[in-house]
Amino acid sequence: MRTLTFCLRRACRVMFLASVLATGSWLCSGHRAGAAEIASSGNAAAPEVVRCAAGDLEAAFRRSADGLQFEGLQDVRTRTTLAVKGAPLFSLLVRNVSSGEERTLTASEGWREARLRQSRGDLRLLWATPSEAALAGLTVQATATLAPRRSAIRWTLRVENRSPGWSVRRCFFPQLELADLGDNAAVLFPRGPGEVQRGVWRRDFHYRGNYPDGWCAMQFLAAYREGASPTGLYVGLHDPWGSTKHLEFKSAPASRTVRLAVETPAADLSQAGNDFTVSGEVVWQLLRGDWFDAARIYRTWAQKEARWWPPLTREGRKDTPLWMRELSTWVMTGGAPDECLPAVKAFREALGLPVGFHWYNWHQIPFDNDYPHYFPAKAGFAQGVAELQQAGVFVMPYINGRLWDSRDRGAEDFEFSRVALPAATKKEDGQPFLESYGSKETNGQPVSLAVMCPSTQLWRERVRNIVLRLQRDEGTRGVYIDQVAAAAPTLCMDVSHRHPLGGGHWWTEGYWDLLKAIRREMPADRMLTTECNGEPFIRWFDGYLTWHWQHDGQVPAFPAVYGGTIQMFGRAYRGGATKELALRMKAGQQLVFGEQIGWFDPGQAGEPQNREFLRKVIYTRWNYRRYFYAGEMARPPRFSGDLPQVKADWQWSGEWPVTTDAVLTGAWRLPFEKRTLLLFANVSDAAVKAPFHLDPQTYGLKARELHRTVSRDGRKSSEGSPASTALAEEIELPAQSVLTWELTPAR
Ligand SMILES: [Zn+2]
Repeated sequence: MRTLTFCLRRACRVMFLASVLATGSWLCSGHRAGAAEIASSGNAAAPEVVRCAAGDLEAAFRRSADGLQFEGLQDVRTRTTLAVKGAPLFSLLVRNVSSGEERTLTASEGWREARLRQSRGDLRLLWATPSEAALAGLTVQATATLAPRRSAIRWTLRVENRSPGWSVRRCFFPQLELADLGDNAAVLFPRGPGEVQRGVWRRDFHYRGNYPDGWCAMQFLAAYREGASPTGLYVGLHDPWGSTKHLEFKSAPASRTVRLAVETPAADLSQAGNDFTVSGEVVWQLLRGDWFDAARIYRTWAQKEARWWPPLTREGRKDTPLWMRELSTWVMTGGAPDECLPAVKAFREALGLPVGFHWYNWHQIPFDNDYPHYFPAKAGFAQGVAELQQAGVFVMPYINGRLWDSRDRGAEDFEFSRVALPAATKKEDGQPFLESYGSKETNGQPVSLAVMCPSTQLWRERVRNIVLRLQRDEGTRGVYIDQVAAAAPTLCMDVSHRHPLGGGHWWTEGYWDLLKAIRREMPADRMLTTECNGEPFIRWFDGYLTWHWQHDGQVPAFPAVYGGTIQMFGRAYRGGATKELALRMKAGQQLVFGEQIGWFDPGQAGEPQNREFLRKVIYTRWNYRRYFYAGEMARPPRFSGDLPQVKADWQWSGEWPVTTDAVLTGAWRLPFEKRTLLLFANVSDAAVKAPFHLDPQTYGLKARELHRTVSRDGRKSSEGSPASTALAEEIELPAQSVLTWELTPAR
């Protein structure tokens, strides 16, 4: 039986693995000692290729004159090239700390010594003694562990820096030139909920994510081909600390390749002699499936290893109040109590269900100005909060968790220089990181806000005091702490903060400690939320705002990984000529993605042309709410043929066309109870009829024992029947309607 195949052969032989060598046998060129090895020692020996296979995934390397060249990746079962040579396995940017000179060292060249050693289950690679004498003391070691059952290669990489004058600034690892997999090929990347784009090998395409932020929310990428001969590659950065990094895809249409690269800023990047270690593992895994299968690989890892994975019970997050787990809709507006209470209460009364209310501008200071001096609140705030909460509205005021205005009392520097500046994040030149968002000081100048360092006691205490005062004194059930899961870390270089300088995972740990202290002290039955969905803070928040899930080609990869671990809510609903269709598309997508529906302006939600559809979506979610907080996402059902599509201007930034199927679908499971919910939302203005084939095995169910309960438009009344008749049928959905099938084992 074939498990592992190692073979080492001369490059002039055929490239494809034609014969299989028994596990543990070696062909080696040069050395015939205990393990196979290729070594580059600077002399012009014949180049050699080493191949290693983990199940169906085979990688090849070649010795070059002064390095080790990555030759490519193959799926040996389908004989598909997944990656070709071109990019060095790693690149290393180093800097001379006295002169500021920079050099780039790569795996492929620039070394007097480069070795690749194979043993039974792994490859060990070593690069030592840079050819440029000045760089002496830099050594790179990598290990590739072969996981044949999963067809995966798991990498670690470490740079040892014994150089007295050079610092490691950035490491680019891995780097892969992905091959065009054909007409059905697509890439998946972690912008917002996850996004799939097709045909990127043949056109200009560039994605660069700043992890962890809302536009690079998770640490994995994939490229795959669907259809008759599915294949592809999952690349996961299985880093349990959520270190600062960049994930990138860039196409080269002329060569029909897409470069995948991960760039990691080093810790202590300004200090000579700093070492660098890839945090966790880099995983290359054969992917016979699509974005959903890639998400499941990542979920399996995150559940076991990620520091931010929260404890879960059969009712989901026990540390999140039940009202928050159950909540099915949100509104958002702002101002003094008399400006927003009437509309919010009217929405609550008309709907007849609990409502969350995100309250902006409850403070007297202007928005994005004079932060963090949020108190005093506008007159009557606490009474307004109490009145709303008695009426079944859960109030969550806005604060910012990251910024301090550098002119924090009108145009005057009140506390910034005196109190805040030492705790602000600093650039290499010692100046604070400052940001502007369009708000203006009283003198007309743009407001310039400093990014505070979460590792400092000052900022931790300041945020904690504001949150606790809102919950204890003003009585709010929640607090929204803006930007934490939205904005990427700065590379803070302030030595007095005593965290590693620049890269690393001190940023995520800083926020973990800040949030832990708040959760310890906050009153019972309260909750915390933040902006966007950067993953590494999930455990210390109860909800993530999905307002930026606005892109064409979105898939629910984030809900597929994190469904049940965090409540998701708050798409931005906007205007324009197609605003009603855009509203239905967003609400329908929220339903199938497992989000709480909203946040709308209460007036917009109450308009007659929106009211009925929203009611159907919100009630459907309410009726099946347990699936979304106690369950997990399952593979969204697909219709057999093509569906009509709809296109509207989502107005995320200017005109913003988004196209989706007219019928949006989703599936959620309660695995302990073997129950599955299939959701279908027709967001269009026309009825849709399409053939649908249900494969019960997809949901871990058996056709013979299946019972199906059908409900429509959020009504409780339903038809129940054995599901065996329903495995293949035409589904008909009236315009602007919602259909659910609940599949359960037959009694
Ligand atoms: Zn700092």
